[in-house]
Amino acid sequence: MFLHGKDRRLIVVSNRLPFSRYENENGEVKWEKASGGLITALEPILYDLDGIWLGWDGHSAEQSGEERSRLFSVKEIPQPSNVKLEEGKDYKIGCVPIKEDEVESYYNRFSNGTLWALFHYFFEKSHIDLSDWKTYCQVNERFAQYIDDIAREDDVIWIQDFHLMMTPFYLRQLRPRQEIHFFLHTPFPHTDILSILPWQDDLLGSLLCCDTVGFHHKQYLKNFLTAVDVLKRSREVPGEETAGDRGPLTYANPISIDFKLVDRTSREPAVIERKNEIRKKIASPKMILGVDRIDYSKGIRRRLRGIEHLIKTHPEVQGEFFYYQLVIPSREGVDAYKSLKKEIDELIGRINGKFATGLWMPIHYNYGTVPFAELVALYLAADIGLVTPLRDGMNLVCKEYIAAHSDNDGVLILSKFAGAVAEIKNCLAVNPYNIEEIGDAIYRALVMDETERKRRMKKMRKNIGSNDIGKWLEKCLNYFEQARGERKK
Ligand code: UDP
Repeated sequence: MFLHGKDRRLIVVSNRLPFSRYENENGEVKWEKASGGLITALEPILYDLDGIWLGWDGHSAEQSGEERSRLFSVKEIPQPSNVKLEEGKDYKIGCVPIKEDEVESYYNRFSNGTLWALFHYFFEKSHIDLSDWKTYCQVNERFAQYIDDIAREDDVIWIQDFHLMMTPFYLRQLRPRQEIHFFLHTPFPHTDILSILPWQDDLLGSLLCCDTVGFHHKQYLKNFLTAVDVLKRSREVPGEETAGDRGPLTYANPISIDFKLVDRTSREPAVIERKNEIRKKIASPKMILGVDRIDYSKGIRRRLRGIEHLIKTHPEVQGEFFYYQLVIPSREGVDAYKSLKKEIDELIGRINGKFATGLWMPIHYNYGTVPFAELVALYLAADIGLVTPLRDGMNLVCKEYIAAHSDNDGVLILSKFAGAVAEIKNCLAVNPYNIEEIGDAIYRALVMDETERKRRMKKMRKNIGSNDIGKWLEKCLNYFEQARGERKK
């Protein structure tokens, strides 16, 4: 239905596969299912079309052995307990081998250290190193070769995210007629920031080799087109913008969540019971929640100082609320992330030390991951969702917070630098750099009356509920179709 043509297969290519391979203590190879919005969005269509997902399995090539071009059926993988296969359906995965020193250079240093930092406007954290750039290109070229090994002529190749921005360039050299699409899941920065990168023209040139290039937000698309303009290759066509004479159709389409799944889970009796338990444990009348992967871009430290500001300016709130911060471990091999945990620990200790009285402590903290149902119970338990990234391509946590509030109550405080803010008009939008503004917004949320809370939440639920992950996928596939049509003309 989506790809018009019986033999046309969808090949999704991303740095990580939806499954990770690891060795347990006995040296046995095990697989673990990963989670995330992209997996939720793409797996059903891969099952439907008997598609293929190419990526790295999280194991260094030395350990997993090079098995170039071997495709596994998902059914062949010894399934971990958290995986439910679709009856009578299958898709395939291919593991692109990455060696240990490449993981360090391509993944930790260049993708996460250079590109991630720069694309999130942390240019001083972004380290520029020629040898890491070369490894990035080398690994991106390997992905292209791998695609070339397995792709049929009319397969549709969909490359995901900043780890693989050079893959379209290498693939186009091998496959001049192949349909190649790309989607960026981070912000695309303003050209002043992008131009810090000595290899920006290579990245832009590579994206211009695609049939379509997608972003989460109109501003990222504008930034891309401006950067392409600087390369003197842009032109506009009615209705849609394209970059370059034979360049890609470009579009903005915000990714979303499986709204129905979160909503349904929040109505399960066990989840409601768990929510009540969470609230009973700490007797303060209001709960504020933060859920973030540990990352300097998430603004956790400034947010904690916003809470400190709140208590200082409104001492009467002491005992009236508690803040629960869930921090999800991430990128433990990257230097900037190692010191962050210590800084967060110390800041929480300092604030709690300063304000805790008797049995009351303002900040409760959990470093780890929680199962999905527990996460939904936490969202549902929270009167206020506090989501204040300093920069975020989209941010799914805020959408999940809204979806979990099937009680139609709750206030969302959201950074104006999160891509999601464009769709969520009824949140309290804040400048995440402004500690006073965060504190003041929390106060406003704490005293907001029920009628206003419900009015806002209902509107937010309507917006997010009608633009869920299925809509995102459908729109992307429509753009593919449109680009295909224009190509034939
Ligand atoms: N999440 C998770 N494990 C947890 C808590 C949260 O996998 O223990 C998920 C959460 O449901 C959300 C994702 O992590 O879908 C975070 O996505 P977001 O877009 O907010 O930020 P990112 O980590 O992609 O920068």
